[in-house]
Amino acid sequence: MIKQLREEVNKCQKCSLYKDKTKYVFGEGSDNADIIFIGEAPGANEDRTGVPFCGRAGDILNDLLESIHLNRDDIFICNILKCRPQDNRNPKPNEITACTPYLDKQIEMINPNIICCLGNFATKFVMEKFGLHNKVDGISKLHGKVFKASLLTGVLKIVPLYHPAVATYNPDMKRFMLEDIKVLK
Ligand code: URA
Repeated sequence: MIKQLREEVNKCQKCSLYKDKTKYVFGEGSDNADIIFIGEAPGANEDRTGVPFCGRAGDILNDLLESIHLNRDDIFICNILKCRPQDNRNPKPNEITACTPYLDKQIEMINPNIICCLGNFATKFVMEKFGLHNKVDGISKLHGKVFKASLLTGVLKIVPLYHPAVATYNPDMKRFMLEDIKVLK
């Protein structure tokens, strides 16, 4: 099923980002993952390879995962947008609206127990999707906390984390990120 969704994404023309992209970045990992990590959008390396978080931010994410002995094969990693916005600008509201039905389907198919939101865009989208509008705030307030959403299928835990790219321009932040990710243990 997820393979079909990937094929659908790979021909998407729902917003103009497809025109300048090299590769769609669907996401990767286990279709049965307990944890989904959601970032913002592909950067230059991801656009070139089609692999999420494979550049400098990806190196930081790998370090964070390794610190709690999580393997990329055991989780699922994807983004709010499946195509790279030019010059890594922020996603636009119309792009988020066009693209996130794919993310909705990924979440539905994988049915995780935990969603880790990397940065402000993923946090806002996920918190609002699961009815936590009143808890939405900046990532500097929400990082490392655990929010719970009651679903028909059980309780979903939502964990906002700093986006790994933060540590690429402010290396001092990494120690806070290493602390925050321990909440997943
Ligand atoms: N930043 C993101 O938000 N996602 C990626 O895949 C890479 C960098």
